[in-house]
Amino acid sequence: MDIRIEQGCPQCGASIELNETDHVVACTFCGARSFLHSASPFRYVLPMAGGASSEGLLLAPYLRFKGTIFLVTSRGIEHRVVDTTQVANPVPGLPPSLGLRPQAMRPSRIRAGTGNLYLPQTLKASAILEKAAAVGNLVPQNNQPFLHRAYIGEHLSYIYLPLVVKNGGVHDGVTGDLLFAVDESAASGLRGRRFDETWSVRSLATLCPQCGADLEGAGDCQVMTCATCDTAWSLEPQGLVGVDWQILEGDKATALHLPFWKISTHIPALDIYSFADFVERSNQPFLPRPQWHDRVMSLWVPAIRLRPKVFLQAGRQATIGQWRLSPVAGRVLPHLFPVTLPPSEARQAVKLILAAASASPRHIYPALPRIRLTGVTMQLVHLPFVDHGHDWVQPETGVAIGKNILRFGRTL
Ligand SMILES: [Zn+2]
Ligand SMILES: [Zn+2]
Repeated sequence: MDIRIEQGCPQCGASIELNETDHVVACTFCGARSFLHSASPFRYVLPMAGGASSEGLLLAPYLRFKGTIFLVTSRGIEHRVVDTTQVANPVPGLPPSLGLRPQAMRPSRIRAGTGNLYLPQTLKASAILEKAAAVGNLVPQNNQPFLHRAYIGEHLSYIYLPLVVKNGGVHDGVTGDLLFAVDESAASGLRGRRFDETWSVRSLATLCPQCGADLEGAGDCQVMTCATCDTAWSLEPQGLVGVDWQILEGDKATALHLPFWKISTHIPALDIYSFADFVERSNQPFLPRPQWHDRVMSLWVPAIRLRPKVFLQAGRQATIGQWRLSPVAGRVLPHLFPVTLPPSEARQAVKLILAAASASPRHIYPALPRIRLTGVTMQLVHLPFVDHGHDWVQPETGVAIGKNILRFGRTL
């Protein structure tokens, strides 16, 4: 379920409501569009009961993760969609999870200058996600070692629960309930720290860094495009970063273009240096052509959020069919589907897509823990899809994505 948050317009200060996943804010009052970026995950705080002041409080951190956990074992690839908010500093007495509260309320961004103190995070994000995997039943059976685990998140952020310390007790600021009593000795364990500068969120006008024109892109997009100079820009923690962008234009039948991250790499652990190597090592049911020995091996990761099964299938088919694709320099055409999976997460998916694209798990899966990619380069490629009734179909590779799935993928 989505969390809606309250945000002041960086230009005029008007209050705007947006989705937690949105990085691009469009203000309905002044018309300005801004790109929000931060050196660390976004941080929000729940509102106090009865609209009480939310200054001078003690705030407890919760890690929020919404996304898919994939687990590769010798038996195959399993996956679960997880949507959870877990305490990141397990002080006895604090609720272990925020449950549905963030969805039911309007969290706002934390900011400097409120006099609030923040309980430090004592559990690492990886340990908390491990727990989420256990809740999702994604722990290997019978102590069998798993070969690979990946977290492909739609969202990772922190949500703070405001605490009120009064009358010898710590109270939940949202409900007013007493959580636990504190005496002198226990109070020392509740020391908060001040606002950290790396938490602050900066805003940037969404103008093309190359030509100054307005960039195009929806609120939840991860890449914006410039129709004036045909460039693409990734929304990164440090700002807008140019993307190596290509497109396969298609023909009159093309109804829309869907984006993929094409990640070209060597995989020394499997002795894969070319597409021909991949075809041989992964036991594809066809022989490599001579020219494929000179063709670099790429993993094709869907650059959109899809249901786990469809995500793996689409990546598998684009990867196997890559030799049929000859994209050219990117340019803005009508119906470019927005990129909603950032490049950092596409990299997390490389081993998964490799596993999914293998015709013979026996040869590839056991090597997964040892695999280190070398010589990695990344490109964004938009591929043409045609309308096949219930599905969008990519003619060259046969990738088929249900129309209802694609809508679902926008919001997961
Ligand atoms: Zn505004
Ligand atoms: Zn431009």
